Amino acid sequence: MIILGVLGAAFGSFACCQAWRVRKHDKSPRSHCMNCKYQLKWYDNIPVLSWLMLGGKCRKCHKKIGVAEILSEVGLAAIFVLSYAFWPLKCELFSNTFETAKFALFLGELVLFAILFIYDARWKEMPTAVLIAGGIVGALFFGTAIAKTWYYWGLSWEIFANVLGALLILPGFYYLLYKVSKETWVGSGDAILCVPLALMLGNFWLAMFCLFLSNMIGSVIMLPVTIAKKKKHAMIPFGPFLIIGFLVVYFCQSYFMNFVSGL
Ligand SMILES: [Zn+2]
Repeated sequence: MIILGVLGAAFGSFACCQAWRVRKHDKSPRSHCMNCKYQLKWYDNIPVLSWLMLGGKCRKCHKKIGVAEILSEVGLAAIFVLSYAFWPLKCELFSNTFETAKFALFLGELVLFAILFIYDARWKEMPTAVLIAGGIVGALFFGTAIAKTWYYWGLSWEIFANVLGALLILPGFYYLLYKVSKETWVGSGDAILCVPLALMLGNFWLAMFCLFLSNMIGSVIMLPVTIAKKKKHAMIPFGPFLIIGFLVVYFCQSYFMNFVSGL
């Protein structure tokens, strides 16, 4: 868990930096202060600690770095640890190759989601290249899950029917909203982001819960904000809520499935 926490913090720092780099088309090999161009030394790049020691300011020009940096580091560290703690088949982790591969892909996907989360929260859109990478990792995760099922139990049509259901509920529904509303209700990025979510959940019901939960969390958080701003048509970054909803459903999937089977 400690190793995962440290890894998460490092990748959280990477994700925040990448969000800015994608935005600014910055391909410089080393990170620098955006105000005075001071090139960061290794000791300025230690996740969480550097930020705390510098008080969230640039070492040279003392301009504030912002809280997004430390929030993404602490946040991703916490989610990496939670991913292990709440992994649905924890008993098979690190003993079953398929399950371990799924876990590694899941963590990789979390890094991409972190970039999208930060980007969408800040600029209210999501970069296509990162969305596509997310789709590819999601497809690899699904492929590994299929390979595992095929290896141990053989394939059945139900697996594909279930993932098809998930794809119809999440990206299908969002694509429909996007088309019908001519991009005024949801953006195309939301529909693309839903593809890996559906592939990783791999189940119609879980996708349904993810849709419900994301919208509920989004409404609860954004409604007061929208009212306070007195705007009827406020732009709301929806990607972060989809990601939060997905994580809750993924980690508590046995609970949600028990609920469904009890209906
Ligand atoms: Zn500076």
